[in-house]
Amino acid sequence: MQTCDKSIRSVVDSAEDPSTDFPIQNLPFGVFERDAREGPRIGVAIGDQILDVAGAAEGGYLGGLSDGAKNALLKPVLNDFAAMGPAPRMNLRRALQTLLGLDGPLRGSQIAKRLLVPQRDVEMRMPFAIGDYTDFYASLHHATNVGSMFRPNQPLMPNWKWLPVGYHGRASSIVVSGTPVRRPYGQVAKADEGPAVFQPSVLLDYELEVGAFLATGNPMGSRIAVGRALECVFGLALVNDWSARDVQKWEYQPLGPFNAKNFATTVAPWVVTTEALEPFMLPGPPRQKEDPPTLEYLKSGDDVVFDITLEVWLATQPMREKRMPPMLVSRGSFADMYWTFAQMIAHHTSTGCNLRTGDLLASGTVSGPTPDSRGSLLERTWRGTEPLKMPDGSERKFLQDGDEVIIRGFCSKPGFRKIGFGECRGTIAAAG
Ligand code: MN
Repeated sequence: MQTCDKSIRSVVDSAEDPSTDFPIQNLPFGVFERDAREGPRIGVAIGDQILDVAGAAEGGYLGGLSDGAKNALLKPVLNDFAAMGPAPRMNLRRALQTLLGLDGPLRGSQIAKRLLVPQRDVEMRMPFAIGDYTDFYASLHHATNVGSMFRPNQPLMPNWKWLPVGYHGRASSIVVSGTPVRRPYGQVAKADEGPAVFQPSVLLDYELEVGAFLATGNPMGSRIAVGRALECVFGLALVNDWSARDVQKWEYQPLGPFNAKNFATTVAPWVVTTEALEPFMLPGPPRQKEDPPTLEYLKSGDDVVFDITLEVWLATQPMREKRMPPMLVSRGSFADMYWTFAQMIAHHTSTGCNLRTGDLLASGTVSGPTPDSRGSLLERTWRGTEPLKMPDGSERKFLQDGDEVIIRGFCSKPGFRKIGFGECRGTIAAAG
């Protein structure tokens, strides 16, 4: 795709730094707030700056946009613009590359001072108003790891390779990166048969995930075909599905997770569009010979996985106080997932269930085949039997108060600029 061409350069110096997450080929969307009077505005990240897209639309600096698209860009969330589908998004991407290009109108101009905002000077807000949130369980390695801990005789349930397993999550408690996460109370039981007590969770965990924000959905009673499903996705963002393992263990049978998950889910502020990710799509997903056949409604000749490197970093409170950098806890690839977003969407709507603009579908914990690519502490420390040694001398089996979890993600390959996802951060606050 032309807009991913490495040779395109930006007038923003920091976007030319090869290490930046946000070159002109990326342009992820987010919602930022400079001050309360102005309120939340739609922008795109460029280097260490944000282009005020709303301001650019108001000022007439974005050529080729319809009035409808311009009006949608003045809203405090991305829903209205996303709902217009891929064509206006592509037009805007080209217009933004012209505006931010090396020889564009911002060069040596006063307009740049108004439209470019340093990222350090703003607060990021939720990019979408999320109506519904569904969390899947699409990593074979994660499902096998967790299954082997709790059901050694049958790690993978019989349905797992037939359908993308998921559950309906809670949209109201999704927060943007940087929001503190309070340790939840819950029922926990020492033995499988009880008795239970009500107390703060002591097995608090993160889950490294990638989320897809829906641009367009489907009318109730209709389905989205797997081959068209990716067209419904606006873009991808990093997700941390915080999990209270002790609560989960007691409550999950027979209907699945509930309070173990509903207290908080963190999303990164930047949504990377599928257009920016096009060079990093690989044919997939991989299937083994012994796997069951993929049913027709989940089968697409040209389905793809996204080759995103994903990392979890951890900093304890003493580490931060001593200005020690966070420790890398795991690194894996999103290309290792067994089920794709297209298959999750096709399966979700196969009943006629309607998806809507702004819905968030998360992948489930992303774990790879090796111990250092396991995307949760439950797996990384193998239920606490292999604690992590932290640089401040402490050990971690599960999260302690004051711990900060940082998820990062990026795509890179020779011949292309790095496409980064920014960060998804959260710090654990003591139970209240
Ligand atoms: Mn999850």
